Amino acid sequence: MDLGLAGKLAVVTGASKGIGLGIARAFAREGADVVVTARTAKDVEAAATAIAHEYGVNTRAVVSDVATADGCRAVIDAAAEMGGADIFVSNAGTGSNETVAEAPDEKWQAYWDLHLMAAVRLSRGLADQMDAKGGGAMLMNASICAVQPLWYEPIYNTTKAALLMFGKCLSTEMIKRNIRVNTVNPGLIRTPDWENTARELRGENWQAYLQEVADEHADIRRFGTVEELADFCIFLCSPRASYSVGSAYHVDGGMLKTI
Ligand code: NDP
Repeated sequence: MDLGLAGKLAVVTGASKGIGLGIARAFAREGADVVVTARTAKDVEAAATAIAHEYGVNTRAVVSDVATADGCRAVIDAAAEMGGADIFVSNAGTGSNETVAEAPDEKWQAYWDLHLMAAVRLSRGLADQMDAKGGGAMLMNASICAVQPLWYEPIYNTTKAALLMFGKCLSTEMIKRNIRVNTVNPGLIRTPDWENTARELRGENWQAYLQEVADEHADIRRFGTVEELADFCIFLCSPRASYSVGSAYHVDGGMLKTI
């Protein structure tokens, strides 16, 4: 199926590794140019170079912290220099580990800035570019934890739930400008982050730890691959998903326990 993404410009935050890198690669595979962003210069540059080399598309590496207004501005400016964004995927984020009783205000604020304000600031700026091109698509990468919290990360759960609501509010406003907004709630997706955690907890038996996590949480009894999630994401951002507006989609191997 031709997704109609060739020649589009996709902006993906947190695209130097894990899910964001998978999404950026999937867009490039379909012929889209990609703005690749994250904070660690060597990783962002390596990702942008590898994607350009492998798929023959234009890429731009933007080293920026999207939890700041200046970092978001740098991403918006880079997209403008490449002719303006058609697609925006708000992906940068990370898990947490705390109790409400002990976590300081600063930690709540940092996660709010990363999981919510990055999406607010970037969607505002990139929407003007999409407008100028006649429309576009945005995707919020929240989490199953936005609707089914894990006990050890209340800040993550709460800020991802805020992102989910933001996606819905943004959609109502943006569809008037021919910009479709949707949200994806992934379950367990195997990324370097999960593998590192497993190694820290179990050393050589790290694969067994991942299997236990999958057995406990996901009906399918395995982690999803980055590629399985990325294909779903790029479809939602493509013209093939033209009637999908303001929805949240779970890609979770049966982890969600409600209907
Ligand atoms: P990774 O830790 O593998 O990758 C995170 C990416 O985001 C990296 O490129 C990182 O690069 C970047 N990043 C982190 N903070 C910032 C920042 N302040 N500004 C710019 N870039 C930043 O995470 P995953 O791929 O596992 O997760 C990606 C998204 O998917 C997150 O939002 C996560 O919450 C969500 N998710 C993941 C699931 C999973 O099972 N893996 C399940 C559900 C949701 P750098 O550190 O160099 O900035």
